[in-house]
Amino acid sequence: MSNLSKFYQETVTYVHHWNDTLFTIKTTRNDGLRFRNGEFAMIGLEIDGKPLMRAYSIASTNYDEELEFYSIKVPDGPLTSVLQHIKVGDTLLVSKKPTGTLVLDDLNPGKHLYMLSTGTGLAPFLSLTRDPEVYERFDKVILVHGVRYVSELGYRERFERELFNDEYLADYVKDKFIYYPTVTREPFRNEGRMTNLMRSGKLFEDIGLPPMNPTDDRAMICGSPSMNKDVAALLDEYGLKCSPRMGGTGDYVVERAFVEQ
Ligand SMILES: Cc1cc2nc3c(=O)[nH]c(=O)nc-3n(C[C@H](O)[C@H](O)[C@H](O)COP(=O)(O)OP(=O)(O)OC[C@H]3O[C@@H](n4cnc5c(N)ncnc54)[C@H](O)[C@@H]3O)c2cc1C
Repeated sequence: MSNLSKFYQETVTYVHHWNDTLFTIKTTRNDGLRFRNGEFAMIGLEIDGKPLMRAYSIASTNYDEELEFYSIKVPDGPLTSVLQHIKVGDTLLVSKKPTGTLVLDDLNPGKHLYMLSTGTGLAPFLSLTRDPEVYERFDKVILVHGVRYVSELGYRERFERELFNDEYLADYVKDKFIYYPTVTREPFRNEGRMTNLMRSGKLFEDIGLPPMNPTDDRAMICGSPSMNKDVAALLDEYGLKCSPRMGGTGDYVVERAFVEQ
């Protein structure tokens, strides 16, 4: 079996550059590709006859006909320095068995679901915020997205307006979905790191909910390794329990948005 036959070869149907550092790709989706919302796949390109693959959260849902990915452009990054030039009609390699820990089934039942993300850690929540089951299981769904600059708030329109007008999802998100973007390096309506906004209580005051507690609140975390660590430590202080590594449910689940080298 050649190296490449391990992957589906999908055709790029759409590319959108949000700013100098972030872009979105959509591709065809092989009928055989099954995944749970929140999971990641390995995606990549054939370079010099070999696959160059990286982990990417699937930003589309399991009911969408196409696949979607939300990507960083790392200067000199082996994959993204090439991937950022991808065009409609090009081929994207996608692994056949997505996996991951940011899945609804690994969470204990609760009232409020916090989706805590920074940067491209938003990607799995692009999928999960469009999953009706999320709204069936929780009374409130709070998406917190931390970035440095306002231009890095990708998909802001979707969360501020489009979801509420979506033919299929409007009834699910109404009165349940709360979007809380926060920016650290320039003026914005919410400023600062999410851990500081949670510790000071400002985030909870702003969204009109009590501070997090293990009875009502559940969370999913996806960000840089240091963000994941800081947020998980704070949730531990609130008394929430992380899902066990070897399977089983918890009050919160964590996925790395990238690996630091
Ligand atoms: C489970 C998982 C899911 C992931 N999902 C996504 C995703 O949905 N979108 C995405 O863009 N990336 C995602 N990544 C990161 C991705 O796998 C690659 O690291 C990224 O595409 C850069 O690849 P590269 O070859 O250009 O650089 P690499 O050699 O992979 O990375 C170089 C350095 O760039 C930094 N870096 C890498 N990725 C990011 C990032 N996303 N944001 C900020 N800094 C970063 C790190 O410091 C890293 O050491 C995910 C990683 C993991 C482990």
